Amino acid sequence: MSEPDFESKVAIVTGGGSGIGAACVQLLVERGAKVLVADVDPVAAEKVASQFLESARPFAVDVSDSQRCELMVQRAIDTWGGLHIAVNNAGIGGEQNPIGSYSVEGWRSVLSVNLDGVFYSMRAEIPAMIESGGGSIINMSSILGSVGFPAAGAYVSAKHGVVGLTRAAALDHAAQSIRVNAVGPGFIDTPLLSQLSPEMKAGLSRMHPRGQMGSSREVAELVAFLASDRAANITGSYYTVDGGYTAQ
Ligand code: NAP
Repeated sequence: MSEPDFESKVAIVTGGGSGIGAACVQLLVERGAKVLVADVDPVAAEKVASQFLESARPFAVDVSDSQRCELMVQRAIDTWGGLHIAVNNAGIGGEQNPIGSYSVEGWRSVLSVNLDGVFYSMRAEIPAMIESGGGSIINMSSILGSVGFPAAGAYVSAKHGVVGLTRAAALDHAAQSIRVNAVGPGFIDTPLLSQLSPEMKAGLSRMHPRGQMGSSREVAELVAFLASDRAANITGSYYTVDGGYTAQ
């Protein structure tokens, strides 16, 4: 089977400067897309975009700022004339505490990036996609979009929220040829987990029936499939890529 063809497609990847987002940028570019690498870290965005010459451009965005999300979409249109694919992937781990002692500031910080950020991004992206004749949005949830995890109440809540928001947006815009799906990776060894010790990472690996964490590339493969026309009948769905974690 031939690879999905993104030859005439324009994409945005938020959090594209690192980890899973950077892997999504690479795969979309490999398959022909033009990609705006949008990240709160402009140096990271530039570093990723510069690997792909004419196919990628960096853009500095804090997705918890709705106006900046609108400028992000405008930049994609100004650069390449439209928008067809969006991977709303930017996210943070945030405070780790039980709910009974979770700080209000910590809660707001995680919700503002991991949930508000997905709403602000989609709110800006969807009109541009309608204008471009349709599109595919992939929102980065997590296995923690369907199961809990200790001391991660804000993250778990935001990621469950992303799944609900995905379903709502899919229903709202299916008739306008906009597909919206969510992806739920298991633990992936990216800079997001950099504060964990090797022992903690080994413990997390053992929690996956496959016996290891997944790779960013494996997540990107699912994202690219959902972005492609091969997934034309798929919208409002949530797919895990988790080595069996949520099957337990
Ligand atoms: P990562 O390596 O830390 O990459 C995330 C990128 O997003 C970083 O460049 C980060 O910049 C950027 N970012 C953070 N806040 C932002 C904001 N407000 N606006 C725009 N960009 C922002 O993390 P990752 O592991 O690739 O995670 C990507 C997504 O996958 C996240 O939504 C995460 O929740 C989800 N996920 C990760 C795992 C995992 O185990 N790694 C599992 C399931 C789901 P800074 O580095 O400056 O913060």
